[in-house]
Amino acid sequence: MQPNLSSDRPCVLAILLFAGCVTILTPSSTEAADPEARWWKGNLHTHSLWSDGDQFPEMIADWYRERDYNFVALTDHNVLSEGIRWMPYSAIVKRSDDGILDRYRARFGNSWVETRGEPGSPEFAIRLKPLDEFRNLVEERNQFIMIPAEEISDRSEGKPVHINATNVAEALKPAGGATVRETMQNNLRAILEHEKSHGREVLPHLNHPNFGYAVTAQDLAAVVSERFFEVYNGHPGVNQLGDATHPSVESIWDTVNAIRRTALNVPPLMGIATDDSHEYHGKAGSRPGRGWVMVRSQYLTPEHLIRAMKRGDFYASSGVTLNDVQFDAKTKELTLEIASEDNVTYQTEFIATLKSDGDSDKERVGQRVLSSNSLSPSYRMKGNELYVRAVVTSTKPHQDPSFENQFQQAWTQPVGWKND
Ligand SMILES: [Zn+2]
Ligand SMILES: [Zn+2]
Repeated sequence: MQPNLSSDRPCVLAILLFAGCVTILTPSSTEAADPEARWWKGNLHTHSLWSDGDQFPEMIADWYRERDYNFVALTDHNVLSEGIRWMPYSAIVKRSDDGILDRYRARFGNSWVETRGEPGSPEFAIRLKPLDEFRNLVEERNQFIMIPAEEISDRSEGKPVHINATNVAEALKPAGGATVRETMQNNLRAILEHEKSHGREVLPHLNHPNFGYAVTAQDLAAVVSERFFEVYNGHPGVNQLGDATHPSVESIWDTVNAIRRTALNVPPLMGIATDDSHEYHGKAGSRPGRGWVMVRSQYLTPEHLIRAMKRGDFYASSGVTLNDVQFDAKTKELTLEIASEDNVTYQTEFIATLKSDGDSDKERVGQRVLSSNSLSPSYRMKGNELYVRAVVTSTKPHQDPSFENQFQQAWTQPVGWKND
């Protein structure tokens, strides 16, 4: 059809409409050439019905997205959410409650939810959607992404050895090993080979070291290819605080880093907070929303987030938000900016492992070198520290505590350890 050239009015109108559309669409449809780095919130430890969680994966994604998370890794045990999987409805209800299907349908619609068999019959089953199939419904550029991941769940010496591998291309089998340490090493080696052969950034992190008191500080220090571990895991059964004969997870961290910065001369271990969520229907247990990481990156992509974490540009949180964390390598000063809430105060403790002073000939592990109530606390290193880190504790109780008397916290990464 020939365009109508008899009048210029429709053309003008069309141009105006077009121009209007361009003005509205341009800012959200193209990426800024060099966006400013900002903080992105994410949880790197989450279970769904694909292993032992009690919720459909897209419902979990939706839970986090609704609460302003920017990224989530579903980390089911030894499996990725992929392939065809039907789960008997009776098994799903046994794990959750009998309202689960109604809530799933109410959120995603009858035409999305796939069932087979007669309702009420033993054959009645629901299809678990693979990540590649549902991610388009929940992801939104610069708002929310899903990262394919797995909790490699191994055992050795009768103890659980669990390592999360974030941003994997395919599921990795537990590698096994004669000892806990060897099992960690074997799995780490497999993850690093996978990373190399697939040409992608993969983030391995050691989960809940005190779960079954499986992994000691000496094990963690020795497996030097492990750069990340969970300084906080929201599962109530992971012995976060240790007991009479076992150190807390946080004190394990300093012991590991004292060994790494003296005997081994390798970079320190960095700390992640996660949910390890399994229960999404309000039941007691490992509920979502207890621990997360804040990562500073220009782009919300798995590769950029993981690279930022490998640089140490992130912190762990169970409630406290930091507007800024800076370490000035010249002045050796670590400074935090705490995002404050009304009627809440914050205590920041700067923790360092101090070099041996010759007298005792032993470094002093995990010492508090400064305590501050400022909203911009800072610590300038004196030269006798192997590294320094900060932990901020709020006077506000944790929103859903995983242990008694838990207050909201944030943990920054060890700095000041480079030999420059
Ligand atoms: Zn685990
Ligand atoms: Zn887990």
